[in-house]
Amino acid sequence: MAKNSSRTAGRHFLQIPGPTPVPDRILRAMDMPTIDHRGPEFQRLGKRVLEGLKTIFKCAGPVVIYPASGTGAWEAALANALSPGDRVLMYETGHFATLWKNMATKLGLAPEFISSDWRAGADPKAIEARLKEDAAHAIKAVCVVHNETSTGCVSHIDQVRKAIDAAGHPALLMVDTISSLGSIDYRHDEWGVDVTVGGSQKGLMLPPGLSFNAVGDKALAVAKNAKLPRSFWSWEEMIANNRNGFFPYTPATNLLYALAESIDMLHEEGLENVFARHDRHAEATRRAVRGWGLEIWCREPKDYSSSLTAVLMPDGQDADRFRKAALEHFDISLGTGLSKLGGKIFRIGHLGDINDLTIVGALAGVEMGLALAGVPHRKGGVQAAMDYLEAAASPARAAAE
Ligand SMILES: *Cc1c(COP(=O)(O)O)cnc(C)c1O
Repeated sequence: MAKNSSRTAGRHFLQIPGPTPVPDRILRAMDMPTIDHRGPEFQRLGKRVLEGLKTIFKCAGPVVIYPASGTGAWEAALANALSPGDRVLMYETGHFATLWKNMATKLGLAPEFISSDWRAGADPKAIEARLKEDAAHAIKAVCVVHNETSTGCVSHIDQVRKAIDAAGHPALLMVDTISSLGSIDYRHDEWGVDVTVGGSQKGLMLPPGLSFNAVGDKALAVAKNAKLPRSFWSWEEMIANNRNGFFPYTPATNLLYALAESIDMLHEEGLENVFARHDRHAEATRRAVRGWGLEIWCREPKDYSSSLTAVLMPDGQDADRFRKAALEHFDISLGTGLSKLGGKIFRIGHLGDINDLTIVGALAGVEMGLALAGVPHRKGGVQAAMDYLEAAASPARAAAE
């Protein structure tokens, strides 16, 4: 970035794992007059987004939309389905799982945490073993973060479902997909999830401000007798109003225009293609990291995240000093290490509206930033990523010809 200048040319590289860059199409879709949220035009918009979201969560039941950040939807999931003192089994995949657990405590629940070193996804066997011990079925819910944004590790929700079934346990399964929805394959119904929590500002490419609960039949039935206090977050009134495309209180109308556009964009590209693109950019990023001679924080290749990669700094090197250099010189924002990982790792976000050249540009910013910050590394990470992307592009080129 030039010194003594109040303007930076070109687009900022927002390579954090959310919020992600908002596409021009979505910005334009929002640039509309706010309409009467009790009128017929709104009703069409409401129905469109409420139906459309089901195709993204892959569920037949309702998806509740809140004008809130993802944290609000976490609270909604717990407050609607649980009662004071209920035991919930949560898995310590990292910082976000810890925040959700702390919230459960504050709400008067009794979370039990399966601990980990934050370098892998949730272990379904550990969940199964704990549930088998709970013969009295005191545990009312199992909560897992699908994509742990603080570590770049994914949990395999289909296997968590199988673990719960193998234990013959009736607990609800609640899953946080805030940084995976629209980036990594997810199937609410097929995987037998009871409540899925989502957010707007990551894979859906929207600005922050919306979050979601996809709610299955079993969760709806349990909610009828659940006793935690809830008002703003209550599913009941929302779902009743949503049946006609309306909301019980003023919705974030302009963000709903954006949401309608986002759903269209995901389907125009095709969800399978969206997931494959994220897989490809994640693999390119990992090749770059190995090319630099640095370590990928996620220890288990089967758990690698396709929406972000966390990178361990060499001993004695401060990740935030490097991030600052990259921002100052190349106008790129990289994710910081959260809580106990502060200064030790940085995170490269590669989710949302990202193409091959965006990721190559971002990786170039990282490679040059490492050099300018004096972090010991090898050159050639970007080249390794380019070689991979070039090879990955050629079958598509052949097929098109
Ligand atoms: C971003 C994120 C959150 C928090 O969402 P906010 O919108 O910041 O409230 C929770 N869980 C995961 C996995 C996230 O990535």
